[in-house]
Amino acid sequence: MKQEQQNQQPKRMNPYVGLLMGILIILFLNGLIVPTLTGGQIKPADYGTFIAKVDSGLVEEVVIKSGQIYFTAREGNVTSAYQTGAINDPQLVDRLLQAKSPNKDGKIAFNQIIPRENSPLLNFILMWVLPGLIFYLIWRQTSKAIQSRMGSGGNFMSFGKSGAKIYADADVKTTFTDVAGQDEAKETLTEIVDFLHNPKKYTDIGASLPKGALLVGPPGTGKTLIARAVAGEAKVPFFAISGSEFVQMFVGMGAAKVRDLFRQANEKAPCIIFIDEIDAIGKRRDTGLGGNDEREQTLNQLLTEMDGFDGRKGVVILAATNRPESLDKALLRPGRFDRRIQMELPDLEGRKAILAVHLKKVKCEKIDMDVVARATAGSSGAELANIVNEAALRAVRMGRNKVITADLEESVETVIAGAQKKGKVISADEKKTVSYHEIGHALVAALQSHSAPVHKITIVPRTSGALGYTMQVDKGEQVLMSREDLFNRIATLTGGRAAEEVVLGSVSTGASNDIEQATRLARAMVTRYGMSEKYDMMGLETVNNAYLGGDTSLTCSSETAADIDREVLKMITEAHQKARKLISDHLDIMHEAAHYLLDKETITGEEFMAIVRKYQQ
Ligand code: ADP
Ligand code: MG
Ligand code: ZN
Repeated sequence: MKQEQQNQQPKRMNPYVGLLMGILIILFLNGLIVPTLTGGQIKPADYGTFIAKVDSGLVEEVVIKSGQIYFTAREGNVTSAYQTGAINDPQLVDRLLQAKSPNKDGKIAFNQIIPRENSPLLNFILMWVLPGLIFYLIWRQTSKAIQSRMGSGGNFMSFGKSGAKIYADADVKTTFTDVAGQDEAKETLTEIVDFLHNPKKYTDIGASLPKGALLVGPPGTGKTLIARAVAGEAKVPFFAISGSEFVQMFVGMGAAKVRDLFRQANEKAPCIIFIDEIDAIGKRRDTGLGGNDEREQTLNQLLTEMDGFDGRKGVVILAATNRPESLDKALLRPGRFDRRIQMELPDLEGRKAILAVHLKKVKCEKIDMDVVARATAGSSGAELANIVNEAALRAVRMGRNKVITADLEESVETVIAGAQKKGKVISADEKKTVSYHEIGHALVAALQSHSAPVHKITIVPRTSGALGYTMQVDKGEQVLMSREDLFNRIATLTGGRAAEEVVLGSVSTGASNDIEQATRLARAMVTRYGMSEKYDMMGLETVNNAYLGGDTSLTCSSETAADIDREVLKMITEAHQKARKLISDHLDIMHEAAHYLLDKETITGEEFMAIVRKYQQ
């Protein structure tokens, strides 16, 4: 059930009606309304015609008004109306009195409408008050329109109340069972749920619960989801608002909205306030550049409100962000968001659990969850939900009414590498190059004992532009990587290019992605993992946004930066040489596997390993 919390406002007359009436009154008083004549449409005529018609006794009625003469004349059985300019003709009245007319009494009916002199008061109203009123009505109407476009109704003039539409969802259906994995987060939040259920237990002993908890983690790990689940578990109203909604065009409006939110929450206590993407208002205030007045005021108001409300009342504030490092320190001090709940990317078990939660919503046969979970290392909950949905769509495309494991495997590839590009024509020569390139990766990976075994090799082009790829799947979840692991991984990445060089004697553009990844890895080894001899354990780079791409910035002098480049190059060259050696030592495997792949287009890791093993006995 959705409950709208809005200030009641008395109904007003539609200002447009008033506007119209005002204009009508002005027009009427100014006498612009043409007197009604009985003759229908008014035709223009000249003065001569008018006199002629009067003299020949055809005219029935004459009206003289503001310099114009309106008259009707009967010609035969038809009466028509005319208009002509009034000429200063002193004999006109005499002429009209004497003229004959088709009227019953034989006389022309005539009169003159003399423009009335307005009273000074009326003049004043007409000239000043009415236009002002009209402008006021127009202004109010447009300002209302602007305001509603900015997302809040209410009165434009008063900043005291934002009149914001804040919805309290009184009946959240999400529960902790909808959130798979994230057990630590759930544990912390269970305490909050218990407090909302049963505040007396805590207040009796004199404890007050944390006022706020900050959910921190990469995008798509279920921060928004788990906040809803807390409300669903606690069965209390849930005020959800996004940080960006506080940022308004006018200074002070955001702060007013914060005040409103807390006032409404206080009325509904116990309840949960959830501020999503709080970094939109909670950014550190010391970041130079003059700052942003509106944002700062909003943040200050939020801090004040959090300090001001009674922690025992049962208002719990949850906030989510994926940029914790950019938050203002004041937000994080005890008494505000003093709890920090980390939401991490799911591990193998977590991925299985998330897949299970989402697979429950679709019809499926027995799914080999393990295979799918292994193939999706590093995926977030949101990505896994997407993979399940893609699989269901594929099942429908295939004309099945149930999802099978193959659907999921294909959709993993679709999400990682793009959909299969069916119509793309690749020349035989290019196919051969791609084939050797991919087998090169696979062989180098397989021959290094530390590398994960290959899962699948394919040369079916993808819409992402990949012409083929080798999918490596880790056996277990590896948390720590040794220097050797990383080095071998670089060697595997260079394996594709090495195969082209050794077997075909030329290189292609197909290795650009490999080069990028290998360089990033080697660089991290030197600057962040302390894995070069030269720089020992010196940190040379810091990560800026751990949860958003993880871009880095150097923290060393420019000479060191140049030297880092040399170290990185050394490492990559070493790995590349290793890959080349492995491949030239096993050319027989290369040829057989590459031809097999050319023939089949997609082969499994098992098929590949069978060929490798054949030569290694
Ligand atoms: P965030 O707010 O952290 O960016 P969301 O909470 O919006 O991520 O998650 C997006 C979607 O991903 C959810 O609606 C849900 O379908 C799925 N999802 C993410 N994490 C999980 C999880 N742990 N369990 C089940 N589904 C999840
Ligand atoms: Mg979110
Ligand atoms: Zn490659």
